[in-house]
Parts: sequence; C-alpha cells; structure tokens
Amino acid sequence: MTGPEPAAEMRARRTRLRALLESAGLDALLVTDLVNIRYLTGFTGSNAALLVVADDCEDHDEGASEPRTRFCTDGRYTTQSAAEVPDLPRLIGRPCDRALIALAPGGAIGFEARSVSVADHAGLVHAAGDAPAGLELTATLDLVEQLRAVKDAAEIDALRRACEVADRALAELVEAGGIRIGRTERQVSLDLDQRMRVLGASDPSFETIVAAGPNSAIPHHRPTAAVLARGDFVKLDFGATVDGYHSDMTRTLVLGSPADWQRDLYRLVHAAQTAGRAAALVGATGAAVDAAARDVITDAGRGQEFSHGLGHGVGLQVHEAPSLARESASTMAQDMCVTVEPGVYLPGRGGVRIEDCGVIRRDGYQVLTLTSRELCVL
Ligand code: ZN
Ligand code: ZN
Repeated sequence: MTGPEPAAEMRARRTRLRALLESAGLDALLVTDLVNIRYLTGFTGSNAALLVVADDCEDHDEGASEPRTRFCTDGRYTTQSAAEVPDLPRLIGRPCDRALIALAPGGAIGFEARSVSVADHAGLVHAAGDAPAGLELTATLDLVEQLRAVKDAAEIDALRRACEVADRALAELVEAGGIRIGRTERQVSLDLDQRMRVLGASDPSFETIVAAGPNSAIPHHRPTAAVLARGDFVKLDFGATVDGYHSDMTRTLVLGSPADWQRDLYRLVHAAQTAGRAAALVGATGAAVDAAARDVITDAGRGQEFSHGLGHGVGLQVHEAPSLARESASTMAQDMCVTVEPGVYLPGRGGVRIEDCGVIRRDGYQVLTLTSRELCVL
C-alpha cells in the first residue's frame, strides 16, 4: 500500500480535530468512544481514553510532537498500545477517563456525551474537582464523527478492499453452486461468511442476511432453517470487515425462472437505485438523494412498501454519518462513503433490495461493490 505512514494519518486527523475544538471554544476533548479512539490513534483494544489538547502541536528538528495530548489504556494493553500508538505520550491506569481528566489543562474540557454514562459522568465530575487546574466539563456531540464521515485515502483503500472481499465471496458462492434449491438460509449464510473470512475478512461486517421466498419481504430477516425453493427471491445483505473497515452490499437473486411480478419488482428497485446513485453528488442533501430514489418507487404506487432510508455512511462502523433519508440533515461532501439501498417489500410474497457501497467523488458516485446489478437467475 502506498501513501503516508499510518502515524502521519492519525496525526493529520488529530490536527483536523483541533481545528474543530478551537471553533467549539474547547481547550481539550476527552475521547472515550473506542471507535473514535481507533480513528485518532490506531488503537484496537477494548479499553482506552484519549485527551486531545487543542493548542498542542510543537515542531522540533526531530519532527512534530503533541506533548500534552495523552493516551491511556490498562495493563493488558501495555505492549499492544506501544506498537499501535507509538507517537503519543501513553499512560497505563484505570479508569482511563478519570486518569486523563486529572491531567487535563484548565478551561473547557469536552466529553463525548453519547459514550459517557451517567455513572461515568459522576466519576469525571469527581476527578475534575480533584484536578489542580480549574476546569469545566462540557458535553459535545459528534465532533469526531463528523470528521469520520469524510474518508482519507487510506480509509477509502480499506473500504475498497472490504468491498472486493464481499464481491469475490459472492462470486465464489454462486460459482460453487452454493445458492441452490434445497439449502437452508442458514447454510447459505455460513458458507458466505466462511468464504469472506478465507478471502481476508476479519469478520462479517454484521450478521449476514439471507432471506428466501416470503422472508425476502422482511428487510432485516435473520437466516433460519427455511429451505430455498424454486421461484424464490433470495436476498443477501452482507459485508466484510478489513482493517476495521466495513463493506455493505445487497443483491437479490431468483431461483428458477422469475415470474412477471418478480421481474417488474426488480426493474422498479433497479431504476430507483440507479436514480439514487445518480443523485449522490457533492453538495446534495441526504434528503434529496433519498427523494431521487424514493420518487421512482412512489410514482409506481409502491411508496408505502419502501419502509426505510435510502442509505448510510460506512467506515469503522457499518452505520455512521452521513444519513441518506427523508429526515436527514446531512449534506454530501467529497470522499464520503455511503450506501445506496432502496428496497420494496411485499409482505407474504417477497421483496427486492439492491445495495451498493461507494464514494462521493467530484464527478459523481464511484461504486466500490462491483457485482452486477442485473437480475441474476440461478
Ligand atoms: Zn446492507
Ligand atoms: Zn446498508
């Protein structure tokens, strides 16, 4: 892989965060969300906190350093954190959040309101009272999350590899005859998961959905012992995790020859998905992209049967900012990675969803999931 060293990327992310802290009037941010900590430092363990001090970047002859920004984890991760976070002052202790608050500079110290429980907050208030400098704890929302919505080159590369694993796993599964009459949904999902792991995924991105026949009308169906039968729609929604990044794709196939209603339904969802991808442009609102796809389905009289949003951001989490939905407040920016996934579900009969994962580029939506979107008949 080409590009900057991982440590340089993490530092660039912390620099972008510092700009946000300045504009929010914060002197530091206590980061306790583990996904945000991974994004800012590279640490992949299960317990840590990070204190990012706003005015903390010194350039020396030996390079830049951030002497007052501190990372804390517990004794289980001494070795791992030295390897993964070599470029920040590290502290070993627990609870990590309180250990760092005790070292915080004075002034307004933000904490991540979504990840701090009421009990954690009480502990922080107590630790802040003991801190030498007078400090004021301030709740913040989504500061790191808004940075994560726009991907850097290393992230897009990881997402591309995650999508490739999923594409290849599905191609191999089809090639090997793994989606066939007589198999259960559960067998197909295990087979697909196994293939993704063999191809380099650390895990599936989420619990793989395999939904056959009437079950395909359930948007988030969990695979069961239901047997695949002739004439069924088979909906597969799945993804691979590679280097912590998640892919997400859905394809809907037909076993045997499709009935007219199945062809019509597929054509409708395909047209909506095409319209959604075409609308996913820099500057478009999440609501407008959603509407571009939804209008196609509503105009066909099936608006009620498209019961979820059009898409979501993907990255270190499978669902993250921005949102593509009717109520979305997001605006599309260059290098956001989002899914486009309209679906129409006819209860008791079957449903179709087609989902791609892609990057918003200056010249349009660049798809990363490359499996054909044409109706696949097995
Ligand atoms: Zn999906
Ligand atoms: Zn999705």
